[in-house]
Amino acid sequence: MKFIFKKNLKEAPKEALFVSVCHTNKDEIFLENGIKTLYLKRDELEKFQSNTKNLRRLYLLIRKMVILAKQTQVKQLAFNFNDFAILLSSTKKTEVTPPLANGGVTSVFSSTLELAEIIGTQIAFANYEFVQYKTPPPEGFNFIKEIFIEGTNPEIQKIILKGNIIAEEVNKTRSLSNTPGGDMTPSVLAQEAKKALKNLPVKVKILGEKEMAKEKMEAILAVGRGSEMESKFIILEYWGDKKGEEKKDKSDFPPAGGKVGLPSFLTKNAPIVLVGKGVTFDSGGINLKPSSSLLGMNMDMSGGAAVIHTMALIAKNKIKKNVIGLIPAVENMPSGKSYRPGDVIRSMSGQTIEILNTDAEGRVILADALTYAEKYKPSLVIDIATLTGAAVVALGERASAIFTDDDILCKNFEEIGEETGEYLWRLPLWEEYESEIKGSLGDWTNCHNKDSRYGGATNGAIFLKQFTKKYSKDCKWVHLDIAPRMTSIAGEYLAPGALGTPVRLLYKIIEKLK
Ligand SMILES: [Zn+2]
Repeated sequence: MKFIFKKNLKEAPKEALFVSVCHTNKDEIFLENGIKTLYLKRDELEKFQSNTKNLRRLYLLIRKMVILAKQTQVKQLAFNFNDFAILLSSTKKTEVTPPLANGGVTSVFSSTLELAEIIGTQIAFANYEFVQYKTPPPEGFNFIKEIFIEGTNPEIQKIILKGNIIAEEVNKTRSLSNTPGGDMTPSVLAQEAKKALKNLPVKVKILGEKEMAKEKMEAILAVGRGSEMESKFIILEYWGDKKGEEKKDKSDFPPAGGKVGLPSFLTKNAPIVLVGKGVTFDSGGINLKPSSSLLGMNMDMSGGAAVIHTMALIAKNKIKKNVIGLIPAVENMPSGKSYRPGDVIRSMSGQTIEILNTDAEGRVILADALTYAEKYKPSLVIDIATLTGAAVVALGERASAIFTDDDILCKNFEEIGEETGEYLWRLPLWEEYESEIKGSLGDWTNCHNKDSRYGGATNGAIFLKQFTKKYSKDCKWVHLDIAPRMTSIAGEYLAPGALGTPVRLLYKIIEKLK
């Protein structure tokens, strides 16, 4: 898809669908003098302008435009940037000051630059469909090829294109996740990481089972043991802020519109580590899932896919920070070699894990990956995992669950979540919950030790926490359970299948961290 900026939309080809954003009763398409115009229904202006949550309406509106255009089979779309800018150009800017902010943590929304990035991102996000396995129809697949935009300036254009690059990486994440399990093995995921980061300044290192055994990563090896496919541990290193180099301040890419001053804790160039769950197919193992739960389990590597393409975005935008990606990649299968319920595994950390259910495998592999992260002496570790069905039960399919002990950081994640359309909701991570995972044979059980269904998302998080306790005192840890946002839902104006969450969120957080 190509963005073409014009002084006047009259220069756009006649076959294009011209869009007029207005406050009408319904979306309508008219053909007048051979020109097709879409009158795109929007809400009243106040609904866009009253508070930040209503950026949500804007995302939907932009995506609706694309979906309606695709329904008419046009290949070109033309609109005026100011039709959207007017939605945000309210008299007062919307400010959000979180109650816990220290040092004036504020977000200012509704700048035209932010809008530019949103437009660039959301158009490409909505244009995506996963067609890799389909035979192309004679007229070709139904994608918008060219977007003509009037009413921009060079600065806005640059940021629209930047938004488009963000969406391209999100869409690549979706394609990795959408790939069937038979074609997406741990080795393939590792190859895809290499491909995604080719020609970018990211070091890619892949550990096989032998190398993992040397590192004593017995938790990852145990989960992968039942599969014919070799487990892999994918290490991605991006050193954007050279060690020893005096930390340059502060003038990172001007965040589009908003300026969220995150707490300043990235000390001494210590890296940010992203850990992504890479279960390329989760059958449940010996605790085999019921038929109804097996479909879609090729997407259980969505956290890992998000890490790969977040790394690509960081490198492409030359972010001056050190960021490491770690992806334990395994297939969880039942066989004579599988790990069993009742097994006790000594993890890389030295702590033992008592397996009560082989379908709670994500936290087991993440345990070793979180331990491996210690090597980097990080200042922030974020793990991303389609970890629990319980998170979906708790939140529905509209927000990912966030767990952290740091209130300010949490608030900032939530805000950037709003700003990027990657909505988050916090669940507890209190130490009281530890009693639910105390083992009788081993140190920790990999699910509730009384076989209770209660609090499953928190039990997963509190388990992971046990493997972050050796981080330095200043290091923060955030766990994102993205199971609720693994796939799109009706009404979002997005293709069915994987969502590519939370690439936009991670990228923005890292871009804005000080
Ligand atoms: Zn599982």
